[in-house]
Formats: sequence, C-alpha cells, structure tokens
Amino acid sequence: MTLPPRATIIEVGPRDGLQIEKQPIPTEAKVRLVDLLTAAGVPRIEVTSFVHPRHVPQMADAEEVLARIQRRPGTKYEALVPNARGIERALTCRVDRIVLFVAASEGFNQKNLRAGREEMLQAAREAARMAREARLPMRGGVVTAFGCPYEGRVPLEAVERVAGEYLELGCEEVTLADTVGVTNPAAVRRMLEHLKGRFPGARFGLHFHNTRGAGLANVLAGLEAGAESFDASAGGMGGCPFAPRASGNIATEDTVNMLHEMGIETGIGLPGLLQAVALAESLLGRQLPGQLLHAGIMNWDAPAA
Ligand code: ZN
Repeated sequence: MTLPPRATIIEVGPRDGLQIEKQPIPTEAKVRLVDLLTAAGVPRIEVTSFVHPRHVPQMADAEEVLARIQRRPGTKYEALVPNARGIERALTCRVDRIVLFVAASEGFNQKNLRAGREEMLQAAREAARMAREARLPMRGGVVTAFGCPYEGRVPLEAVERVAGEYLELGCEEVTLADTVGVTNPAAVRRMLEHLKGRFPGARFGLHFHNTRGAGLANVLAGLEAGAESFDASAGGMGGCPFAPRASGNIATEDTVNMLHEMGIETGIGLPGLLQAVALAESLLGRQLPGQLLHAGIMNWDAPAA
C-alpha cells in the first residue's frame, strides 16, 4: 500500500460539532476553543457557518467569533456558506476559504436543507460567483455522498454531478461527506477511484462520521485512494442537526494520533490538541467519544505500565 508522507486535517468541531448543541455556547468559549486549536498547529479550522440563525441558532454569532479569534499565519480559517446571503455576511469578516454544501440525494436536500437539489445548486452557483469576485477560495461539500437516511444508496452519478458542478464553479477541493456515517473502506475506495478517473487532477477531501465505528478505517482507505484532506472534530463532537441519529465526526486527536503513529505528518501537536479536547468536554459537560484524551498518548520510550 502506498501512503502519503503528509495529510491535511481540517478541524470542523467548532462548526459541525457545536451546531447541534441545544444549550447556547458563549461566544467567548467558542473563541477559546478555536484559539487552542490554532495553538496546536491545526492547519485549517472550519470556524462557523453563515446559515440563517433561525435554522441553526448556535451559529448566530459567526461574525463575532471570526472577529475575536487569534490568528496564526499557518492556519486557514473557513466558514460554511449556503447561499448569496451567507457570502454577504462572510465578506464582512476575515475568512480564508468558504465551504459550499449541497446534498447528492434529493431527499436530504428537500427534507433537511429546505430546497431541492437544483435549487441548492443554484444557490451555490450564486454564492460561488460572489466568492470568485472577492477572490475567496472555495471548497465544495457533497452532503450524503455515501448514503442518505431517506433514500439509502446514493448513485455515483449523483455525487459526480454535484462534484463536477463544484469544480466548474472554481472550487479548489471537493469534500465527500458521509453525513450519517454509513460507509465502509471499500465504498470509499470505489468512490474516489471513480471520481479521480472522471475528474483528473481534482483534489478530494473526506468528511466521516463515526456513527457505526468505521471512521478511521475509512480514513485509511481514503489515504490509499488519494484523498488529500480529512475533516475531523475535536473529541468527536457533533452530529448533524438534520440527520436523525448521526453521531459525531471522527475525533481529530484519534485521527492525528493514528496518522502520526503511521509516520504520516499533520503538523499538529497532540498535547496542544488534547487541551482543546479537554476544553470541549468541559464546555459540553460530558465525556466525548474521542479516545486519546482518556487513553493517553503512548510514550514508546517510557511506557507507563
Ligand atoms: Zn458532518
């Protein structure tokens, strides 16, 4: 198997993780979380989203969070944007990259994103036009790329359709999301091989939820199949406000630890990252699914017991 020497981790906890929390989390705490992630050397952080506060009230303070975080030159700060209104808001802030999103399956768009796929694509096109004018880099998220809670299997052609549209719009990267955590390593490999054949030279990222325990196995399959970035959330926070029973993203610290142990560099410092995880647990008042904080980082030179 051929593995790359490096992989890019995109921390999505402050957005994908926190958005489902019912209890409003103080802006100050969100800023502290992002600052700890920055200090740990995380290269890209999805900080917040510019969706309508009526739909996702937890993200209503997007502008304020972006204004207050402490930036480091090595870290890029991203924000999720659904439409032209979202871009208008993003353009008033310092955002390094925006993330567009459309579901591959019609059912998920209709039921959870409140618009059909064509309507969602149209909104993405409009947002992309404004982003291009402002020279704002974009990545495109294909929601439910590996399975839909309403429609089950999602045809490769549906994923290809949305991915192709993103590339045409000028997205520098397409992220395939297993929104409800149903995929497996063989399906990940198949999907990437198909899309890389169809869109030579395009960059692909992966977004896994560990709902059924296959998260890190899927990361390995994605690495082998040439994916370049991996979304993950500190502690494995999160879920999806729209996806019934979706559990958290793959935990950033467990992913980074596995990669480092395999000799794959991420640029992230684990002790610093664990401080962010500890903060996330104290903010949410519960133990999160990520395991490294509680298992500890293995010290090969001086094993504890
Ligand atoms: Zn997600």
